[in-house]
Amino acid sequence: MSASRFPLAPGSTIGIVGGGQLGRMLAMAAARLGFRVAVLAREAGSPAGQVSAVELVGDYGDPDAVARLAALSDVLTFEFENVSAAALAAAEGSGAPIAPPDRALAVAQDRVDEKGFLNLHGLATTAFAPIDTAADIAPGLERLGAPALLKTRREGYDGKGQAWVKAPGEAEAVFAAIGARPSILEAKVEFVRELSVIAARGWTGEIAAYPVGENRHEHGVLRTTTAPADITPAARQEALRIAAALLRALDYVGVVGVELFELADGRLLVNEFAPRVHNTGHWTLDGCQVDQFEQHIRAVAGWPLGPTEPLARVQMTNLLGLDAGAWASLAADPGARLWLYGKSDPAPGRKMGHVNRLSPL
Ligand code: AMP
Repeated sequence: MSASRFPLAPGSTIGIVGGGQLGRMLAMAAARLGFRVAVLAREAGSPAGQVSAVELVGDYGDPDAVARLAALSDVLTFEFENVSAAALAAAEGSGAPIAPPDRALAVAQDRVDEKGFLNLHGLATTAFAPIDTAADIAPGLERLGAPALLKTRREGYDGKGQAWVKAPGEAEAVFAAIGARPSILEAKVEFVRELSVIAARGWTGEIAAYPVGENRHEHGVLRTTTAPADITPAARQEALRIAAALLRALDYVGVVGVELFELADGRLLVNEFAPRVHNTGHWTLDGCQVDQFEQHIRAVAGWPLGPTEPLARVQMTNLLGLDAGAWASLAADPGARLWLYGKSDPAPGRKMGHVNRLSPL
C-alpha cells in the first residue's frame, strides 16, 4: 500500500466494476462517507449507475473500458466475479490500486483452482476431480462415489451450470447438459446446514468478521439468510478461523463471502468463496452498525474497519422476480425493512430486492 494514498480522503473517487445491486449498495455506502463513485456497467441506467456520480458503459472483459474507469478512480474494486482478472491486472499495472487483489478474483473464478488453493492452505472442502472430457467422469465417480455433482469450472452461479451424475452411463449426457466445458466433479456433501461468514481485511492486515449466517436456497438461488445463526461457539470459532486464514492467504483487502457446509459431526467444509460483498451479508444492512457495504468501502479506502457485532437478529428474504411487485404492502409492514434494486424487468428468479426482518437477539 502506498502510504501517501491511504486512507483516501472524502471526495476521492471509488471505481466499481459492475453495475448490479451489489454495486448499488456499495455506491450508497460510499456516498454516505463522502466519496464519489464511478461505475462500469454493461448498460446505461444500471442499478449502481442510478446512484453513482459517473456511469461508464462497457464490457467487464474489455481492458480499455476497465482502464477508463481506473483513470477516474483513486481505488478500483468490483462487485461481480466474472470480471476479467487480466483487465484488472492491466489497470493495476498502470498504477490504479485494486482491492480485492486480482489474484483473489482469479482463484475464485475457477472452481478447481479455488478448491486446490483452499486445500493447500489447510481449509477443508469436499473431495473433487477436475473433468476435461466426459471420459474423466467414470473414474471420478469411482473415486468420489455416486451421485456426484458436476459443475462448470468457470462462470457458474446461483446453481447454474451444474448437474448431478448418478451413474457412469450418464456421463456423456450430463457433460453435454452443462455445456461440455472444463468442469469439476464434487463428492456429495451430506450437510445439515449451509452457513456463510462475511469478513473483511484492511490494507494494514486487520480483520473483522460478522456473525455467521444460516442460508436457505430454493432452486439453487438464495432465499433467506438468518443471522446470527444458532451455532455452537466452536462452530463460530471455526468459521472465523477459516475466513481469517483465507483472507491472509490471499493477502486480501475488502469484504469476502465464504460459503460453508456444516456436517452432522460439526465439521465445516468450504463450498466456495466470493471475493466481494455477498448476498448472504445483506442482513448486516439493518443488523449491524456498519454493514458489509460500508465495511468494504472502509477496507478498500484504507479506513478503520467498523464494528461487526449484531444489534438484532435478522431474517433476510430475497425478493425474486415478481415478489417485488408486493412493494406497497411490504412498505406498509412496519416489521419489514425494504431494499429495492431499481431493476425494471422482473424475470423469474431475478434478484429484485430484499427484505430484512428484525427481532431481539
Ligand atoms: P454452488 O454454485 O457451488 O454455490 O452450489 C449451489 C448449491 O448446490 C449449494 O448452495 C448447495 O446447496 C448445493 N451444492 C453445491 N455443491 C454441493 C456438493 N458438493 N454436495 C451437495 N450439495 C452441493
